[in-house]
Amino acid sequence: MADTAADLADLLAGARHAIVLTGAGVSTESGIPDFRSAGGLWEEYDPMEVASMRTFLQEPERFWRFHRPRIDMLAAVEPNAAHRAIAELQRTGVVRELITQNIDRLHARAGSGDAIEVHGSLDRGVCLRCDHRVSIDELCALADDAEDGVPRCANCRFQMKSGVILFGEMLPEDAINAAYVAAGAADVMLVIGSSLLVAPVSGLPGIVVGNGGRLAILTESETPWDDRCTVRLHGRAGEVMTETLELLSGR
Ligand code: NAD
Repeated sequence: MADTAADLADLLAGARHAIVLTGAGVSTESGIPDFRSAGGLWEEYDPMEVASMRTFLQEPERFWRFHRPRIDMLAAVEPNAAHRAIAELQRTGVVRELITQNIDRLHARAGSGDAIEVHGSLDRGVCLRCDHRVSIDELCALADDAEDGVPRCANCRFQMKSGVILFGEMLPEDAINAAYVAAGAADVMLVIGSSLLVAPVSGLPGIVVGNGGRLAILTESETPWDDRCTVRLHGRAGEVMTETLELLSGR
């Protein structure tokens, strides 16, 4: 199986419609731990528990004690070389749509303002009861001003949440539809930093391959799609994407 940055550059250069799908692994080099690699925040916390609708609804104070510092942590990190290379590949037309499972906004900050965010993002605050919306800064100010640390809706006083989709919450329909439309149009999909274990994104490679398209995977650990891809890289996302971009720019 092809396994070098040159192989990836060849695949992308020959694509009619290339798309990129990213997961938590594209942001680890920015200092944000993923769910599955060893030694991360998530070894201490069970994300299915603390980032769930159940905790948000039944224990809003505990929910916000965990989430409020995380918003500051995510605002303090910077996009890395992989985010920047992907944005450049989009800018030069090599890559069309970017689909991400990440909620950290690092793609947008690197220049991919139109990333399809299938798990929502930290770009806003929202009231699930009356749909009142505020900016993420206003949401943080509401939390910081509240005695119990829980931001409440100015209209109906229900506890507010950010735009990040919680476990047990419906995924944003528009983003999921856009992701499926992009996968349906693509003849090449490059997956970066995703274990491809989380639905519905785990089904997207099957759409591309089912249409006769080709798959490239750049993810350190194994994925269920490894034996069906054309190019398989196990390197670090930042390094490999920088090399791939350089190879494509030099053509
Ligand atoms: P995952 O944790 O299941 O998989 C990440 C993969 O990336 C792993 O296979 C790991 O080996 C690989 N990886 C880690 N660092 C890498 C690097 N530098 N280069 C290449 N590969 C690297 O992540 P997932 O597939 O995105 O699914 C888990 C869920 O976690 C998603 O729902 C996502 O929304 C959420 N999540 C998001 C963030 C974020 O926004 N940054 C962080 C943690 C979790």
